Amino acid sequence: MVVISEIFGKAKSEGRKFLLEHEAKMVCMEYDIPVTKLKVATSVQEAIKYAEEIGYPVVLKILSPDVIHKFDVGGVILNVKSSKEVEEAYNKILRNIKEKVPNAKILGVTVQEMAPPSTEVIVGGLKDPQFGPVVMFGLGGIFVEILKDVTFRIAPINEEEAREMITEVKAYPILEGYRGAPPADVDTIVKILVNTSKLMMDYQEIKELDLNPIMVYEKGAKTVDARIILE
Ligand code: ADP
Ligand code: MG
Repeated sequence: MVVISEIFGKAKSEGRKFLLEHEAKMVCMEYDIPVTKLKVATSVQEAIKYAEEIGYPVVLKILSPDVIHKFDVGGVILNVKSSKEVEEAYNKILRNIKEKVPNAKILGVTVQEMAPPSTEVIVGGLKDPQFGPVVMFGLGGIFVEILKDVTFRIAPINEEEAREMITEVKAYPILEGYRGAPPADVDTIVKILVNTSKLMMDYQEIKELDLNPIMVYEKGAKTVDARIILE
């Protein structure tokens, strides 16, 4: 618990109203929400060392308080498979950011475990002015963005309510296994929803939380990108 208040304190002392990706993922880990393994590198040598510790393939991403949408500015490189590719990706990310966000303060490059592609879900948290902390669930991509196929509950929620949220979205049959695909690990999504609800209840200074996407497997899940916005 100490870790979380320290992370929030650091953000506030730096005048930030949001956590950086590695900070948001550390908060998630404290609440048993599975995230991709991640290390912060500040040199090519360090990036290679971390990639080798994590195991190939890895993902490299810009770490900067001035880059909110990392992918759009060439700040995310997926499927990096060797030390040579780490070096190339590291330098390419820095070049891309210098070109597209010239004044960005660069804190480093995160080296992450590459989560294999799978069914993507989204878990969110927000603070409703009337109801307080609320949790959200939906399937990734078009389901949330275009079809608005999402569901909400007022926190705190228990396992039963979390399971209800998952089964009531229209896209639920996809999680049950669709056209021969194996069923997704719904129990793990239930845990993530319950733990997100706990986190929102315990830390009322969280204004918004966005685990988007979470890759869900036959067994287990991995949060690939996490954002937390503070009051
Ligand atoms: P952005 O800041 O643009 O939202 P993300 O961190 O979400 O950047 O990365 C963009 C996309 O790249 C993600 O939506 C996901 O599809 C993919 N991605 C990012 N990190 C990983 C990872 N560790 N493993 C697998 N895919 C990833
Ligand atoms: Mg993202």
